[in-house]
Amino acid sequence: MKYSQKYYPGTREELVSKIKTAMSPRRFQHVLGVEQAAIQLAKDNQADVEKASIAALVHDYAKERSDSDFQAVIQTKHLDPDLLRWDNFIWHGVVGAEMIATELGITDPEILDAVRKHTVGAKDMTLLDRIIYVADYIEPGRDFPGVQEARLIAQKDLNEAVSYETQHTLEHLLQMKKVIYPAAMETYNYWVAGKLD
Ligand code: GDP
Ligand code: FE
Ligand code: FE
Repeated sequence: MKYSQKYYPGTREELVSKIKTAMSPRRFQHVLGVEQAAIQLAKDNQADVEKASIAALVHDYAKERSDSDFQAVIQTKHLDPDLLRWDNFIWHGVVGAEMIATELGITDPEILDAVRKHTVGAKDMTLLDRIIYVADYIEPGRDFPGVQEARLIAQKDLNEAVSYETQHTLEHLLQMKKVIYPAAMETYNYWVAGKLD
């Protein structure tokens, strides 16, 4: 796909090669799968295909960075100090967005926000936010119980797919007795329980 250079100061091929060097081959394959799913969802939902491609390619850019890298960025960029109580699962999106801006030169606020929200979602999600959130869950390389159902729902109704994903992710985390990031509860209250404010 040919980029307009409005959102990334280079070609798609240049972006792909930077992403590739930042992660394991397995994660790189996941990222390409998310891009494929995101482009399809963007076409289905009349969204900007170029922004969907870029946001998907960068969404896990920071996933393999060290804890100390994230802690340093939280401090130097004066991000919410509460973030220091969490770890990679939340940092790679929220703090990763800052690394994407600095290191890749991507400054479009909608792309960076989609990265910030890709792991736990939010009550308010733009079309691009929803596309990246769902594409991350249904990309062709994913294999877990319910993923086929999620793909079918996503083909029909993006919002339904956000709801399905949020419910099933939360069920899984509860089953595993994992700590729930508070913003994940807000996503659940709005998108699953239907509490509209
Ligand atoms: P990935 O980066 O492509 O692996 O996918 P995500 O960014 O969606 O998720 C990263 C990890 O965070 C996954 O292992 C999720 O299960 C986990 N995760 C998502 N939400 C929460 C949460 O509220 N609490 C905890 N403990 N883990 C979560
Ligand atoms: Fe992620
Ligand atoms: Fe991902």
